[in-house]
Amino acid sequence: MTMQNTPLLMSRIVGRGAMLDPDIEVVTMVTGGTHRQTLKETWDRANQLAHGLKDMGITIGDRVASFMWNNYRHLELYQGVPSMGAVLHTLNIRLPPADLEYIINHAQDKVIFIDEDLLPLLEPLKGKIPCVEKIIICRYGDGGESSFENQDDYENLIANRAVVYNWPEIDETSPMGLCYTSGTTGKPKGVMYTNRSTYLHTLALSLTDSVNLSALDSVCDIVPMFHAMGWGLPFNASMLGCKQVMPHRFMVPDAFLQLMQEEEVTISAGVPTIWQGVRVALEADPNKYDISKITRLTCGGAAPPLSLIRWYWDNYSIEMIQGWGMTETNPLGTLSRKVAKRSHLNISEDKQFENIAKAGLTMPGLEAEIFDEQWNPLPHDGETIGELCIRGPWIASSYYNDPQPDKFHDGWLVTGDVAKIDPEQYIIISDRSKDLIKSGGEWISSVDLENHIVAIEGVLQAAVVAQPHPTWGERPVALIVLEPGAEVSKETVLEHCSTMFAKWQLPDDVLSVDSIPLTSTGKIDKKVIRAKLDNDGYQLPGLRG
Ligand code: ADP
Repeated sequence: MTMQNTPLLMSRIVGRGAMLDPDIEVVTMVTGGTHRQTLKETWDRANQLAHGLKDMGITIGDRVASFMWNNYRHLELYQGVPSMGAVLHTLNIRLPPADLEYIINHAQDKVIFIDEDLLPLLEPLKGKIPCVEKIIICRYGDGGESSFENQDDYENLIANRAVVYNWPEIDETSPMGLCYTSGTTGKPKGVMYTNRSTYLHTLALSLTDSVNLSALDSVCDIVPMFHAMGWGLPFNASMLGCKQVMPHRFMVPDAFLQLMQEEEVTISAGVPTIWQGVRVALEADPNKYDISKITRLTCGGAAPPLSLIRWYWDNYSIEMIQGWGMTETNPLGTLSRKVAKRSHLNISEDKQFENIAKAGLTMPGLEAEIFDEQWNPLPHDGETIGELCIRGPWIASSYYNDPQPDKFHDGWLVTGDVAKIDPEQYIIISDRSKDLIKSGGEWISSVDLENHIVAIEGVLQAAVVAQPHPTWGERPVALIVLEPGAEVSKETVLEHCSTMFAKWQLPDDVLSVDSIPLTSTGKIDKKVIRAKLDNDGYQLPGLRG
């Protein structure tokens, strides 16, 4: 006989915080103030929600969709839907209607929970999503009228129901969450998370050498809960009993900073463009907000520039933790921390920062490797570049009802990122394979150029993309967004880059633009930039230089 074979079910961990720290608060920004409830109330309401869904006919394995901001009701769905054995399908509110229609029908969502202000975005889908039997409207007192026929109100759905639900004993490999990739490379593809994968991801994410969450933290997750499960933080915080602070629809730096100050936030998470925006707000008025309680900012989804990582440390002693991951990896795969390894205690601060600027070390339980085109593993010398592959218990083994054999090889997920691995086993993402620039048969990393360019004073954002070239195949072109009032010339950019890059790697052109197109998840949208350059040449609307 060996040990107990307890199935790894989300219902066993997401109510733990409410039991241990019932009075800790869940705070949501709403018009004119904050909505506050305790962890106990949140868990009670998650149980009531499960009863409501069951009465509606939702059963184990059914898809329950959310079309919502980060707020307390979305958290109740995060807790209640997986616990009752159903599947929470978080719809990305920023996707165009055609993608949403495809995704909802592909997932066969039975019900959609929607925040009232988002109703107009779903309206064009009326009559096109026959699988959806009901929509549940989450009202905050600002309206919430909808022409959808079969509808109910969230509070009405859960009112007067028992606060204890008898969570079913299901197999740990049963599905609990569904996320679609944003379709930057073709049709959106679904990734079906299981109880087991998310349970293990939740444990691994809490480790001190990972995101280092504790029950003492006040967590402000800015990563949308509609994107890659909010990087898993709502599950972690619910398990540990952290205070949770949510911006709801107020997705602007001043709202984040206000919440951080008033709710004494200790850790927050977001993509680099979020932290870039918060930096601009802090620089505009350094004394406006007291964010002295914050010790860590988790940043991923795209590589944060070294200059940004340093800025937060030098000015606020805030450690930026870099995470690399994908929808396909539940979503976190690697993490990079200031002192990620013991040996680094003896290394210079500069070297430590260089390390955080890398994608990081694989989380315990995962394995990563780089391969050449013949699937030979490549040396971990920090120089050889190969296709990054990853495997482990929270890595997708296929897409949901959509076989994509190219994305999987011999038990590995083929990430579509090209990377190096250094002798200390840090993974360094060179680029997404489709964003690499091939000039005269040699590769140029757009990410390396961007990171170097944003370190120039006065440059807020940079995007480097390939442009077709008759002789060289492709050549890099850079777009930059300047700080208000700043003047940075093409020569300055090229001179700065030439300290680091060979002459043939320098951009052919540097264009100053008002804004850089971003994807639905706030990343630089290179597909759109390339298309605009192809269509309009350099006559982009908004171009100044
Ligand atoms: P999509 O961007 O297609 O919507 P994801 O949100 O799942 O899909 O993004 C995954 C991709 O984001 C990765 O394959 C990688 O290219 C990029 N990415 C995520 N984190 C990082 C990071 N820390 N550094 C560089 N690239 C990153």
